Amino acid sequence: MSARIIDGKAFAAALRVRVGQAASHFTARIGRKPGLAVVLVGEDPASSVYVRSKGKATVAAGMESIEHRLPADTDQATLTALIDRLNADEAVDGILVQLPLPRHIDERAVLTRIDPDKDVDGFHPVNAGRLATGIDGLVPCTPLGCLMLLRDIHPHLAGLEAVVIGRSNIVGKPMAALLLQESCTVTTVHSRTRDVMAHVRMADIVVAAVGIPGFVRRDWIKPGATVIDVGINRTETGLVGDVDPAVAEVAGAITPVPGGVGPMTIAVLMRNTLVAACRRAGLPAPDAL
Ligand code: NAP
Repeated sequence: MSARIIDGKAFAAALRVRVGQAASHFTARIGRKPGLAVVLVGEDPASSVYVRSKGKATVAAGMESIEHRLPADTDQATLTALIDRLNADEAVDGILVQLPLPRHIDERAVLTRIDPDKDVDGFHPVNAGRLATGIDGLVPCTPLGCLMLLRDIHPHLAGLEAVVIGRSNIVGKPMAALLLQESCTVTTVHSRTRDVMAHVRMADIVVAAVGIPGFVRRDWIKPGATVIDVGINRTETGLVGDVDPAVAEVAGAITPVPGGVGPMTIAVLMRNTLVAACRRAGLPAPDAL
């Protein structure tokens, strides 16, 4: 039997429609659109493409897109001053600094300068702390998107065994925190784990965020398990995930690459911007998000 393919593209499109509806209610009530400011330093082609698609998605959701494109030789003080202005700007609900930043810029100093309540990427240590301690904050987009897909498959996540492969600050760690919050029994494995396969074999849910093409093998998977493939690896044969496609022969459900987790990230960014806007305006965030 082969796995149910989780259609992240369709899920993300539906989420974007719901965000669009909520954004138009916000605009009618508050008298301005929710605003997302995106800052790009330099001309990295991949970053430029991401910034363009984030801008398009923002406008399509009925929100204001504010783009700041700065030259590659922008200094730390100039970037900090821009973040301070965006923090103080009432029309800006979300601030996103596109990574990676040029080497001469202290990335951590820039990210921690963002007002945590406008930190729609959820990378600020205050938001990481809120997530770890169960306080409402802004959660990184990719792991939150994975959780939304998982909730759709498993309305009751409590008690399930979950293994997260990878412990980065942007995917692995927040993913593990979210699954723990859902009362899963969570194991995080990484490059120093002695026997990754032994852990994965026990899992009802596997989230792979490793960055190695086809890392998770068919014979590691418990029959019927749900597998979320976060990996985006560019190879000679095109975009591939961290999970060997043969895993679909034993898993119960699996996200494809492309078309699984990838489309969720920008949709959740839209969701986070709307949530930030509602909180700043003292409105409850719409339940459907
Ligand atoms: P990362 O920062 O490079 O982290 C990779 C993690 O994998 C690290 O924690 C590393 O362990 C672990 N790892 C490496 N080799 C391993 C091994 N042999 N066994 C077990 N664990 C191992 O990557 P990331 O930013 O989390 O991204 C992971 C993947 O997701 C990449 O393919 C990236 O392109 C993709 N991604 C996709 C989206 C999306 O929108 N779909 C968003 C973000 C990232 P150590 O900590 O011990 O080094």
